[in-house]
Amino acid sequence: MIRAIRGTRDILPPQSALWNYIESQAREVFRTYHYQEIRTPVFEETALFARGVGEDTDIVSKEMYTWTDRDGTSLTLRPENTASVIRAWIEHRLDQIPGLKKLYYIGPMFRRERPQKGRYRQFAQIGAECIGSESPAVDAEIIELALDVLSRCGVRHAHLLLNSVGCPACRPGFVERLRERLAAVRGRLCPDCQRRSETNPLRVLDCKVPEDQNTIDSLPSILDHLCEACRKHFETVQDLLAARGIGYEIRSRLVRGLDYYTRTTFEVTHGALGAQNSILGGGRYDGLAEALGSRVPAPGIGFSIGEDRLVLAVEDQISAEELARLDVFLIPIGQAALTECARLARELRGAGFSVELAADQKVKRAMELANKAGARFAVIVGDDEIARGEVALKDMAKAEQTTVARSALGQALLRARGSAPA
Ligand SMILES: [Zn+2]
Ligand SMILES: [Zn+2]
Repeated sequence: MIRAIRGTRDILPPQSALWNYIESQAREVFRTYHYQEIRTPVFEETALFARGVGEDTDIVSKEMYTWTDRDGTSLTLRPENTASVIRAWIEHRLDQIPGLKKLYYIGPMFRRERPQKGRYRQFAQIGAECIGSESPAVDAEIIELALDVLSRCGVRHAHLLLNSVGCPACRPGFVERLRERLAAVRGRLCPDCQRRSETNPLRVLDCKVPEDQNTIDSLPSILDHLCEACRKHFETVQDLLAARGIGYEIRSRLVRGLDYYTRTTFEVTHGALGAQNSILGGGRYDGLAEALGSRVPAPGIGFSIGEDRLVLAVEDQISAEELARLDVFLIPIGQAALTECARLARELRGAGFSVELAADQKVKRAMELANKAGARFAVIVGDDEIARGEVALKDMAKAEQTTVARSALGQALLRARGSAPA
């Protein structure tokens, strides 16, 4: 038997209804902020990610699915989507169209990580990028958007972490201070940190090894080394968040190790009772377009949400079964009723109900199927009902059967559904 590849999975009904629900909620929030969808290919030239994500990152050095195409080109399944969006922005000269480019995407990404709960090698991200402005107002708005998407999808206890990583004017000075300090303490750090303290000192701040945490907490903070322009930018972002009533915690260790990341970085964790899981990450990348070969600067900021983790976060509050529930199971008795039920099915579907029409004409068997399908209602139609212009309506949860005029069925269903427990 051939099985799905390790680290990948099938999303089956009714669970797929939850994914659809989350994506439709996200699309609706994006629409209200006038973000428009961009769909980029799931594979690109390897060089795009090597440059756009960074040769030195775990993603590029260990986790990419890369192969040589028949013409010798090195291709890679996208491990994230920001580099592709910027590549599309450059390729299609989107800078020539006036105004901000506010783009969102929903789709699969691929990384060869060690499989564990909530982490897959094919995983989905919901993300957005706003390209064309350095203004702190854009940072505040996209953070508000990110939190709105999470909240609309049902995430409770979202916690915003915020930092600034400076700019090419001030960060190199900080990195030097960090390097000096690391030279003194590197013996106490894990092997990865020992290596990073030479190659990319900022990434030491990301280390999750518990034994390293005290030492890392004692390292210098980027926030003490911001230049005047970066300090002002960061303060304005905070003021604009406060004006929106958005709470946050400053986390000076929240950095990204790549040169094109500038100023604002943020992360959202969720979870009651102290179990904080990261569900969203984002930040500004004012130098990325140039790193990818653009002659026009394209300051931008974006975020991505791990959709697999988002589903885990809300699945105990939102019932996939309820979202996928069948409204009406139609049961015809006899040949005339079969024709009548087909007409009825058409009308009810037109009114927005989900409807199944029993193929099996034995009432008992059909009723069992209605039960198994989890239908809210069964509607039974026989020759007598047709003659009287009525149908028998059975509320499956309450096991109550009533007779309803055929013309009033839609209204009766809406009334009953409205009163039914959600
Ligand atoms: Zn600066
Ligand atoms: Zn470490």
